[in-house]
Amino acid sequence: VRLLFINHFRNIYGLGAVLSATKASAGLPQAGDEYDFYRSFPGFQEFCESQGDGLLHCMSQIMQHHGCRSHVRDQNKLTGLEERFDLVVDSNDVILERAGILLDEADGVNRNQQPVMPAGFQPPKIVVSSWNRKGPGSGSRSETFRLLHAKNVTRPQLKFKERIDNSNTPFIPKIFIKPNARKPLPACKTSRERPEDLDVPAALADLIHQQRTQEHVDDMFAHPYQYELDHLSTQEKLLSKPEPQMYKPMAETKFSFIDSLEDLVALNEKLCKLSEFAVDLEHHSYRSFLGLTCLMQISTREEDFIIDTLELRSEMYILNEAFTDPSIVKVFHGADSDIEWLQRDFGLYVVNLFDTHQASRALNLARHSLDHLLKHFCSVDSDKRYQLADWRIRPLPDEMVQYARTDTHYLLYIYDCVKVQLLDFNHSQPGLLQSVWNKSKDISLKKYVKPIYTEESYLELQRKQKKSLNTQQLTAFRLLFAWRDKLARQEDESTGFVLPTHMMNKISEELPKEPQGIIACCNPVPPLVRQQVNELHLLVQQAREMPLLKVETKDAQKSLSVAQMKARQITESFQNPFRMVRHDQRLTLISDCILCTPTQSHFCVPLGFQYLPSKDVHVNKNAKFDPSSKIFEISKRWKLQSIEQQQKEMEAKKKAKEEAKEQARKESAKSGGKKRERVDGEVGELTPKPSKKLMKSAEKPQKTEATPQESFKPFDYSQSDLKVFAGTKSKDSTQFDPNRQDEGFKKKVFASGNRSMSFLAGKSDRGFRHNWPKR
Ligand code: AMP
Ligand code: MN
Ligand code: ZN
Repeated sequence: VRLLFINHFRNIYGLGAVLSATKASAGLPQAGDEYDFYRSFPGFQEFCESQGDGLLHCMSQIMQHHGCRSHVRDQNKLTGLEERFDLVVDSNDVILERAGILLDEADGVNRNQQPVMPAGFQPPKIVVSSWNRKGPGSGSRSETFRLLHAKNVTRPQLKFKERIDNSNTPFIPKIFIKPNARKPLPACKTSRERPEDLDVPAALADLIHQQRTQEHVDDMFAHPYQYELDHLSTQEKLLSKPEPQMYKPMAETKFSFIDSLEDLVALNEKLCKLSEFAVDLEHHSYRSFLGLTCLMQISTREEDFIIDTLELRSEMYILNEAFTDPSIVKVFHGADSDIEWLQRDFGLYVVNLFDTHQASRALNLARHSLDHLLKHFCSVDSDKRYQLADWRIRPLPDEMVQYARTDTHYLLYIYDCVKVQLLDFNHSQPGLLQSVWNKSKDISLKKYVKPIYTEESYLELQRKQKKSLNTQQLTAFRLLFAWRDKLARQEDESTGFVLPTHMMNKISEELPKEPQGIIACCNPVPPLVRQQVNELHLLVQQAREMPLLKVETKDAQKSLSVAQMKARQITESFQNPFRMVRHDQRLTLISDCILCTPTQSHFCVPLGFQYLPSKDVHVNKNAKFDPSSKIFEISKRWKLQSIEQQQKEMEAKKKAKEEAKEQARKESAKSGGKKRERVDGEVGELTPKPSKKLMKSAEKPQKTEATPQESFKPFDYSQSDLKVFAGTKSKDSTQFDPNRQDEGFKKKVFASGNRSMSFLAGKSDRGFRHNWPKR
């Protein structure tokens, strides 16, 4: 009821109403005990039911008004509610998307270049459209709605040192130096020699290399800090009650904007000396396929920092030294996305995370947003208006700096406060607090998963539309979906920018006969649609050539869900693409795959590699390993540190072993191997063994101690081929380049003409795998 309530109001009255509705709904008795108790009063029950019915009726009217499906077929109370919830979510999508279009229209110009801007940053530009005039006949400036604009934002991607890899291949962790390691990186990460004799995309080359060198495939995709996180136990002091340390007023706090490597290195040094700091990220997703992390905010107890992560994108990884240090707490609020963005853009990982959002949940606070915590603990009214601002804007306007700082400035104090409350809540028992640490750790173990296009992906989206399409319409939807995915990857734009879903629906439903008809389905017309309207027209024509069959809704739904399950299966297989490989129509386990044998001139390609539209590979172009650079120093330090730590750990282990053995020896000597020794639990394992053997093994450690280096080879990063990252090979690159005309490959796969996209040409084109270019 609470959700329905909120959505109902959100749709009609806008923000003010949403706030009061949220408040009101938060005031409703909580599900569980409280609600059940109230429910035992017939008056309350009746009231709830009549209100609920009223709301449902009202909502279904709104949905109908917007042309959304509003009927719930399932009358069962429980599943009916689920279905209703789905309906509400879908309708919200439709309505919000429509609102977006209208805002575009109000803008008069392409929304994408007109991000939310603080007032005064730029003179407002007034666009008069058919509907945004206030009253009839009043064209005067003062009566026209005003919308604020920014100047065009240049694409930050253009400046990136590493190309973005939008290829339809699984994400491989970007880490190649691992500070604070208790377990070394797999060798494939540190010595990244790519097979030179294959003209294939980098990700695939890595995989092939791995197969050849017989390394574990799982290693390459594994979370690099899995071992460290699995073995992380919460320090005693982090489970005890702190004395909350008040934050400094923002005006009195030193602020630094970091956009040079030198400053970043200095910041890293500073962070490494602390016991905790707070972190947040700002992100942009509209003009990029995978999304871009635009800012990182860091607050210590004394200072605020904002890092320009667009500028320092390729250098950010040095922060792993502080971010993966288990003795430093990193405080985030709602870190789920942040953890993924850090991996995707910078190869950064977090060891020892505390998520205040998880704390808020454990405390059962009324709401779990940062705004609410700020209000609750710091009496700060935050203005979330900028949350969705275009964070790519540079120079960053003051208002946005202020906003971004607020996101981390108070977080360490909030961290103190929630720890106190979690302990109080539980009569000073650490259980609840420990559970928050555990939940936070689970979040830091999350792995970024790249969106993978499969031949079935469109079905998942189509199902959400809850409209039954005939075969022609469904074909159009499939072709448009594939076109949009390919173009989005190629141009590095979001799919929503290339062709919003509602426009894709409209084109599929109407199947316009003329290119102009396609344009008419889109308002405003996305630039790439306008540019490629002939291509789109051919796709629609191709769909119209399908024999027309009406897809029966019931059957369709059944078969869709089967197809969907299959799609999911396939998508899951991308977590490890070698687990399942497609041979024609069958899904086969990798053991059947001939990829592992390097002498073969053809091999089957994991599903995800069928479509490799981009020439993008991530070879680091900047010379990170110039010995004169600071980074080199740092990485050397990491190397030394990890060796040192390994040594320490090994020595500690050895010591413990020796001691145990020593004791065992003493005990056995004392008792002369009498039966009663077996009662002694601690050395029970050792006592039955003959003492000769014990003597031998006790001598062993001394030997190994003399040559400790031998056991730590994997950590010596200086032995890895770091030139790979220096980008010296760029000229005679053997990387796959779909634009190269002289390759039969391109003709076959990428230039299959306007009529159909290579990767959806269907079964007939699958043979291309066996014609992979030889060298
Ligand atoms: P925050 O954690 O609140 O600082 O948000 C980080 C980033 O997440 C923002 O820069 C946005 O890109 C994105 N974001 C946050 N809230 C929303 C939202 N309600 N809708 C879409 N994107 C959001
Ligand atoms: Mn955040
Ligand atoms: Zn933020």
